[in-house]
Amino acid sequence: MGRSLIIDNIEIAVVRQFNAKSMRLKIDRKTASPVVTIPYFCPLFTAERFVRSHWIWLTKQLELTPPKTTFQDKMTITVLGQTVTICHAPQKRCGARIENGVLYVSGDAAHLHRRVTDFIKDQVRQYAGRKALEFAALSGVHVKAVAVRDTVSRWGSCSTNGHLSFCWRLGLAPLFVLDYVIAHEVSHLKEMNHSRAFWKAVATLYPDMRKAKKWLTDNGKELHRFN
Ligand SMILES: [Zn+2]
Repeated sequence: MGRSLIIDNIEIAVVRQFNAKSMRLKIDRKTASPVVTIPYFCPLFTAERFVRSHWIWLTKQLELTPPKTTFQDKMTITVLGQTVTICHAPQKRCGARIENGVLYVSGDAAHLHRRVTDFIKDQVRQYAGRKALEFAALSGVHVKAVAVRDTVSRWGSCSTNGHLSFCWRLGLAPLFVLDYVIAHEVSHLKEMNHSRAFWKAVATLYPDMRKAKKWLTDNGKELHRFN
């Protein structure tokens, strides 16, 4: 790590990997910036030539990637399907609380982003916990624990021992999207695969899954704008 290329004022991080057989260029979802992965002993100029040969693709991808942002005072967001406006209220002692469409956040401005993030994580944890139990009862499976994580590549995951986890950013999506991901993970307790039987189990819990899947495909990137 550590090295990077700068081409046309765009910084491309260079990651050397022993087991990389070929070069790979991508936009890192967490940082919203380009990364080229190359075999360990590959010279930097070869990497540069590779990146330049994909330049049109790369600039197009960067255009499509929303810039990173943080939660700010007066910003309007959706929390579990409810539209709220963030209001920094340093004098209040509420932590973070929703009242009449306003998300009041107390404390220092420097901690506002983290407090809003923690609030959303907490909301997702509570909601997903309830909903997963409800779905589990309907499909006759047993959910042991529900956790909220900061995942980039997956919206949810499930282990055979009944532990489910969900990406906290789903708290910023419409509620039906979160419901779908919960139904998806609970159904994995029945079918640990993506077989026809699995999708049938999901559809029993959540009939309109196409709409939710489409929403995630179209808007998933937007949810990753927040770190
Ligand atoms: Zn799955």
